[in-house]
Amino acid sequence: MASSLSYSPTPVIEPKLEGMNGVRLLVKREDLNHPFVSGNKWWKLKYNLEQAKRVGHDTLLTFGGAYSNHLYATAAAAHELSMKSIGIVRGERTNPLNQTLSFAESRGMKLHFISREAYRKKNEHEFLQSIRNQFGEVYILPEGGTNEFAVRGCTEFAKTLEQEIDFDYLCLPIGTGGTMAGTIEGLSSNKKVIGFSSLKGGDFLKNEIQSLVSNTQLDWQVNTDYHFGGYGKTTNELMTFIGDMKMNYQLPLDQVYTAKMMMGVLDLIHQNYFEHGSTILVLHTGGLQGNGLINS
Ligand SMILES: *Cc1c(COP(=O)(O)O)cnc(C)c1O
Repeated sequence: MASSLSYSPTPVIEPKLEGMNGVRLLVKREDLNHPFVSGNKWWKLKYNLEQAKRVGHDTLLTFGGAYSNHLYATAAAAHELSMKSIGIVRGERTNPLNQTLSFAESRGMKLHFISREAYRKKNEHEFLQSIRNQFGEVYILPEGGTNEFAVRGCTEFAKTLEQEIDFDYLCLPIGTGGTMAGTIEGLSSNKKVIGFSSLKGGDFLKNEIQSLVSNTQLDWQVNTDYHFGGYGKTTNELMTFIGDMKMNYQLPLDQVYTAKMMMGVLDLIHQNYFEHGSTILVLHTGGLQGNGLINS
């Protein structure tokens, strides 16, 4: 029985885009690190899996929407490590299940569907107590998997990134902000980090991230201009962009996170936002399992 998740080293690529305004653009294809526990989810789970073992829990329980990359990754991770998993899913069960949830079930995840109302209480003490009463000794991961152990894994990742690649800016997409918090912690203070919110009204993310980091030296910011209508929403422009990047630059992007960030980065390059001569490293956080599943 494996005691930790398998990991494949990932490449850095340089797509040959036009109109780069004197900057260099690199993409770290961290989406290729694992076939199912892809991208940032691998790093967010790493120390949570260790912690679950340490406290003697062999069942992971977590939360997500019907298209959640985190549910998908958690189910796959539990399966690989011969652990059990339970997914508390927002909304009603559909028949058939979508690809994300049917994959999770195929990896042994027990799915429990709860109303949107009940789901809103998922972080409240009473709700979590009722979960423990119902499911017993389980290791609970919050929605999106963000907690101190997730931040620690992303910190470790950022350190390896800095050793491997020379860059000035790191750009990445944001959901809960856990991944960004980890990279801020892990990078040295001459780097700049720009996170692109995948959700509308992402201004709260700044405080959220601030609460997860102790390193205040580094210059970081949250860009909220490229949500394309909100979380899980898309536009024709975004879908065309995804097709173009895939066909002309062999760069597959997902529509919830990485495509929005990439459009934001290219837009800022075209606006001459970045210092001339600098290297921008874009982090491909994964999410490709969800492609084509979410309609606006
Ligand atoms: C989950 C996810 C994110 C968001 O990560 P957070 O740590 O919640 O900010 C970004 N990109 C992809 C592809 C994801 O699956």
